[in-house]
Amino acid sequence: MKIKFYGTRGSIPVADRDYVEYGGNTSCVSVRFNNGRIAILDAGTGIRKLGKELMQGGQAQHDNIFIVLSHTHWDHIQGFPFFAPAYDSKRKITLVIPGKMRNAKKLQDIFFTQMQDEYFPVPLKKMGAKIHFWEPAITNYTSPFGVSVSVSRHNHPGGAYGYRVEEEGKVLVYCTDIEHGETIDPQVIDLAKDADLLIHDSQYTREELTQKKGWGHSSCEQALEVAERAGVKKLALFHHDPEHSDPFLATLEEECRQRFTEAFLAKENMEIEI
Ligand SMILES: [Zn+2]
Ligand SMILES: [Zn+2]
Repeated sequence: MKIKFYGTRGSIPVADRDYVEYGGNTSCVSVRFNNGRIAILDAGTGIRKLGKELMQGGQAQHDNIFIVLSHTHWDHIQGFPFFAPAYDSKRKITLVIPGKMRNAKKLQDIFFTQMQDEYFPVPLKKMGAKIHFWEPAITNYTSPFGVSVSVSRHNHPGGAYGYRVEEEGKVLVYCTDIEHGETIDPQVIDLAKDADLLIHDSQYTREELTQKKGWGHSSCEQALEVAERAGVKKLALFHHDPEHSDPFLATLEEECRQRFTEAFLAKENMEIEI
């Protein structure tokens, strides 16, 4: 499968000159499977560019586009009103959060609210595409096309989900917006076990994390520890803090690589095949 980063930033998009290299758009990652289908992880502002690419070709119109959300904080849904395929009446889009213990608020209501006229000029119902919402309370799912997904809920204000995606023996794990606490969450180690690529929240430095308890994120050191203990092959550090400029992140990346040689900071437009 091929993974491409369209948004790597956490919390809020940034557009300053010092944010070009690692990227200023919020969370969005595409996964293109060997069977030709595509899934999208999170709908942060990075999804705008991905949507344009899908409209320009490469994706059959009859395909249902799955957008799988880790959770519904702004930085993971705010790009959806700018996702061009959602305005195409020939397309089918499924917005999904699988996993148990979901909060009572319905996914459809959250997206409906985001596009009320107090916030946005076009209401959800007028976008055009056939948009479905799916919230199955499952921990495992196997698609008819040979892709299997395991789901694990983790600690984050309001809750968030991590995903282990497998196709033809290759494993991608996506685990963002996670606060481990004093020790690493053992469920995350299980989820990431022997993954070919782990994408993990690394918003803070060790020092920043001590000041940001309860904000729902990990330090780079914690992401590295998960990668080491789970025996992953590659680690993409993800959800960069909006205060961390390119020079700052480049230094951080160098330090991370000294500890785990197959670690790197996710950059916008970066593509990885596993
Ligand atoms: Zn986030
Ligand atoms: Zn969040």
